[in-house]
Parts: sequence; C-alpha cells; structure tokens
Amino acid sequence: MFMRTSVLIAAALAAGITVTARQAPAPAENPLLKPWTTPFGVPPFAEIKPEHFVPAIKAGIAEQRKEIDAIAASAAPPSFANTIEALENAGELLGKVNPVFSNQQSSNTNAELQAINREVAPMLAALRDDIRLNPALFARVKTLWDARATLKLPPVQARLLDETYKSFVRGGANLTPAQKERFRAVNAEITSLGIKFGDNLLRDTNGYRLVLEQQADLKGLPPSVVAAGADAAKAAGMPGKWVYTLQAPSIWPFLQYADNRELRKQMLTAYTTRNDHGDQYDNKALVAQTAALRAERARLLGYKTHADYVLEENMAKTPDKVYALLTQLWTPARAMALREAADQQALITRDGGAFTLEAWDWRYYQEKVKKARFDLDEQALRPYFKLDNVRQGAFYVANKLYGLTFTPRPDLPVYHPEVQAFEVKDADGSHLGVYYSDYHPRPGKRVGAWSSTFRSTRVKDGTRVTPVVVNVCNFSRPAGDEPALLSLEEAGTLFHEFGHALNSLLSKSPYRGLGGFPRDFVEVPSQIMENWALEPDVLAVYAKHYKTGEVIPAALVEKMKKSAQFDQGFVTVEYLAASILDMDWHTLTQGPAQDTTAFEQASMARITLPPDIVPRYRSPYFNHIFGPGGGYASGYYAYIWSEVLDQDAFQAFREKGLFDQATARGFRTILEKGGTDDPMALYKAFRGREPSVEPLLKKRGLK
Ligand SMILES: [Zn+2]
Repeated sequence: MFMRTSVLIAAALAAGITVTARQAPAPAENPLLKPWTTPFGVPPFAEIKPEHFVPAIKAGIAEQRKEIDAIAASAAPPSFANTIEALENAGELLGKVNPVFSNQQSSNTNAELQAINREVAPMLAALRDDIRLNPALFARVKTLWDARATLKLPPVQARLLDETYKSFVRGGANLTPAQKERFRAVNAEITSLGIKFGDNLLRDTNGYRLVLEQQADLKGLPPSVVAAGADAAKAAGMPGKWVYTLQAPSIWPFLQYADNRELRKQMLTAYTTRNDHGDQYDNKALVAQTAALRAERARLLGYKTHADYVLEENMAKTPDKVYALLTQLWTPARAMALREAADQQALITRDGGAFTLEAWDWRYYQEKVKKARFDLDEQALRPYFKLDNVRQGAFYVANKLYGLTFTPRPDLPVYHPEVQAFEVKDADGSHLGVYYSDYHPRPGKRVGAWSSTFRSTRVKDGTRVTPVVVNVCNFSRPAGDEPALLSLEEAGTLFHEFGHALNSLLSKSPYRGLGGFPRDFVEVPSQIMENWALEPDVLAVYAKHYKTGEVIPAALVEKMKKSAQFDQGFVTVEYLAASILDMDWHTLTQGPAQDTTAFEQASMARITLPPDIVPRYRSPYFNHIFGPGGGYASGYYAYIWSEVLDQDAFQAFREKGLFDQATARGFRTILEKGGTDDPMALYKAFRGREPSVEPLLKKRGLK
C-alpha cells in the first residue's frame, strides 16, 4: 500500500469533536516551528510532543493562506512563475509539519492524537477547498491553461500546468456558487466519516482477543505460534495463558494451524464481523453514507459515478475497462478455487470429518493439502527469513540493480524505539535520502503495511530536496527466545513496501505536484520487487538460517517454486471479490437502495462468490476504500492492474538477466521520472511495447 502525504491530498480527514484545551507552547519553543538541525533535516522526533501539532498546523495553514491570497490578488498578469510555480511552492511550513502528524496518526496514535486529528483534519480539508474554489486564483490558472499552446513551456512545466488546471476543475472550480457550497459540505462530511471509520476499525481490531487457558486448545500450533501467544498473554498481564489477536501475525498462523475447529471459527468470525455488531462502533451506516456522498459529488462535477471521476486520472480510464480485466480473471480464478476446495473436502472426508468446508477451514486444510502434495511446511521456512536478513536482502537487490547503499544511522531521531533509520547513498556515494523501517504491530498502528514520506523530493532553488521515507508494517515479533522470523508472505510484503520506498527515493521530479504515479501504476515499483525476493540467486544471499547461518537448502527452494501457484485460486478470488465490491460501491449513480449488508450480499451473489470464501475485506472494515482519505476507492483493482505491468516488466529481467544493468537503468528511469510523464509512455520507452497480460496469467496459474 502506498500512502501519499502531500499536503493537499493526505489532508483529507476530519470531524466534529474538538479537543479539550491544551497548553499551547509559545512558537519559539515549538520544535515543529523551528529550523530542524538534525542530520539530513529529519523531524526531531524526541522533542515533538502532541501539544505541538495543533499550533504548528494552524501556523502552516495561515502561512499557506497568505501565500495563496498573494498569488490570487497579484496585479501582475499571470505567468507560469508567478502562478503555477508560486502555487507549487506555497505551503512550505505545512508541508514540513503535517506529514509528521499524519504519519504519527497512522502508525503510532492514541486517544490524544485521534482527538487532534478530528480537530485539524476539517481545517486541512477546508484549506484544500478554499484553494481550489478560489475564483480569482482559478481565473489566473485558467488564463494560462487557455494560452498553453502559445506559452512554449518545456514539457515538464506544461504537464504541471495541465495537472494544476485539472486539479482545480476536479476540485470544483467550475461549479456555481450554490454548487460550491454543497461540494464543500459533501467533502467535509466524507472526511469526517472516513476518520470515524478508521477510529472504529482500530477499536474493534484491538477490542477482541482470544484467551486460551488450556494446553489442549493449542493443539496443532507450531512452537513459535505458541510462544507468541504466551508472550502476548504476558504483555497483557495474564502470564501462563495464551492470547491471540486479530493482528495479522497472530490470526493467520492461528487459522493455519489450530486443530480446534470451534476456536478457528471464533477467530475468523471475530475478524469478519469487525464493525458489524450494531453497536456504536458499527461502520455499516458510514459505508452507505460515504458511497452516497461520493456519488453525489461525482454528479455535481458532471461525472456519471465516483468511479468515472477517479478512473479518468488512472491508466484504466473507465469502469468498463476495470470490470473487463477483473471479469477476465474471475472465471478461471473461481474455477481454480473450486478445485482447491474439492481437494480440501477430500482430505476432510478421508480423515473422517463429517462436515462441509467452511471459511474458517480454508487456511487450515490448504496448509494440510500443501504439506501432503509438496512436503512443504510454511513454518519450516521461517528460520530462513529472519527479519534483519530479509531487509538486508532487499538492500542487496537495490545495490545490485542501482548501486544504492544503506547505512544504519542509530544517531538519527526516531518516533518509536522499534523504528530504525538508514542513510541511503547513490552509486556515486552521494546522499540520496533517509529510509526508516517500522516493522511490528502495536495498538496505535493501523493494520496492513504501507510506505509513506516525511519529506518528498522536489527541486528547490536549483537543489534537490532529499526524501525521507518510512515503511510501516505489522510483521511477526520476536517470540520466546527467537528473533523476528517472517512468513513467506511477510517477506514478500517487506520487499513490496521497500519497492515503494525506492520509488520515492529515486524520484527526480522537480515538482511536488508531479511527484507520483496514478493509483493503478503506483503498485508496479512495489510489486516488481516481490519477484526478486524469491529468486534462488537472491535467496542464496539473504535467506540464511538464523541459528546456523546455513543458506536455505536448494530442495526447499525447489519445493517453494513448485508450490508457488498452489493457493492462487483462493488468493485471487478473495482479492478479486474485494475489488469488485469496491467497484460496485463506486459505480452507483446515487446512494444504495438497500442497506450495506444487503448491498454486499447482492454484489457477491452476482459473481457467485463461493460461500466458503470471504472477500479479502468486507465493507465495514474495508479501510483502503472507506478509511481516512479513502485513497483506494474505486482503486483496489490497482494491485492486479499493476501486476499485469510488473509481471511483464520483470519478464524483461528474466530475459536479460536478474541484474542486467541496461534493463535496471531503463526501469530506474521510470522511477526517476515518476509523475512528470504519462506512465504508459514511460512503460513503452522501457519495454519497447505495451504490456502483455500473459506473464500474469502464467504466474498465477490462470492459464
Ligand atoms: Zn503497495
């Protein structure tokens, strides 16, 4: 997942409750308002206290308003420099301060920060609307855009002008005053619903735990999973018991291995009914309201649906194209999942089970079939995937491809003791940026994994501003006396988020406004990295037994390769189901006619989702699309859309060599150019042609 923290985009959050009065420190004492004298100008985390955020964000907003007003009121005729570039450069302080807050709110929050978020998010949303709905400002932008053919701007500037103009139009600049008023109200409401959704989800995810008191209930669980449960119980003040939670490193191994079917049912049911209990944390009404408001906003702007509005800015362009890809994959994936289910049912029957496969049996029996068929035990892999080694593997790949080096910098300030800092240098030894990793779950961290920035790159006064990037994940902790040992999936996720980080680190975009790829291309740089993680030549470098240092045996790698497509039916189906659910919510022309549960059921019935498979995210906890910012709304398909491209791109490395320098240079060019050019044009320059869907179908065993 990729989180944008640009001032205007990530600011989309909000709601009604104000914070109780806090002692606002004088500006001179507020570290957020002082120059940062830390190495590389990273945030001075140790000095920043929650009470510093509101005054600093308010100061940043005030500064940006002043700058914007000056641009709009300028008596000089509009020029690229005094309007487009001036807009791009406005908001320096807010751009420095707000990412510190929004990253903390995502990865290290608490009741105090949540309350601050509810206070500042509406201010940030209003600022964004005030800029885009400012008639005098828009008139200047439009004058330039109308004259674009005669301005003779260099291509990158022409693109920034075009993107700026579009962002105003898409932000409501062409609406009538009455429409603008409604547009503002709708934005504010969507922002507030998203925050509430996220806070509710964090609450319900943390609000459940399975406490086991008897050894017998642990049957089937590998020693490391038992140890993790014992550690969690100790941490919760219940020594001698075992605690399992809805955090990924806890629930998924439990469902994979626990022999006790009733307990598996309890765990999965707790997970899939989060925010669906009809209490004050229920998200169903929020979901329906958000979808209805998005549909209304799209109509206001002249689009048929929210998906039409969003997709125009993506490679896919239209909902039809998205549905076409999802449908093309759905039929073979579903058939494959049904075959997998039949294999599991056969095993159940063979073992004398008199029951039908249910959702809470999938991971358990899938694991058993896998063991029988490939003699591969997922747990046997973990000792070779020590967290530090996997990260070292990702660094190794970046070094072999691009010559980058990563040096630990324990002297850099961090926002939590588990965060680690690295200086990143380019092949020529020059400073490229700072990379932070934050890998383990805690109650104040959102679920999932993402990459974000504290500072993104651009050119200021002729000099490149160097990026400060963070990867935030929820990986298995050290358990008992073992270090953190990752599952194969977690290792893939580490490489994935690291790919996003490389994208941010290598970008040479001169403008923040052209910093990023569209949503359905942004997963290409991340997903392509997952391929290197599993290449035998790369495994040989980093997949070493944490005790003996022995390289992962070739026989085990061979088993991994053979079993790679093994559960692709299930994985693809649960993912596609969620993607289709997302598209269905956002191709509504008005609010849903039925309640959220009925809508979801109808959506899943239409595609005949097998009854024993749950979509990867159900609506009440589909944070990607209904959470704060809702960045993946009508964009969850982006992962598989991007996968068409990243599989085709990786094919180039397969053909020329895993670390072929010419191919690596070509791919690096895509990352360097980022949003300064059309992604398909960049891709074609790299590959010499448009991407083919064949490598994806082959990889997933769908053909
Ligand atoms: Zn991602």
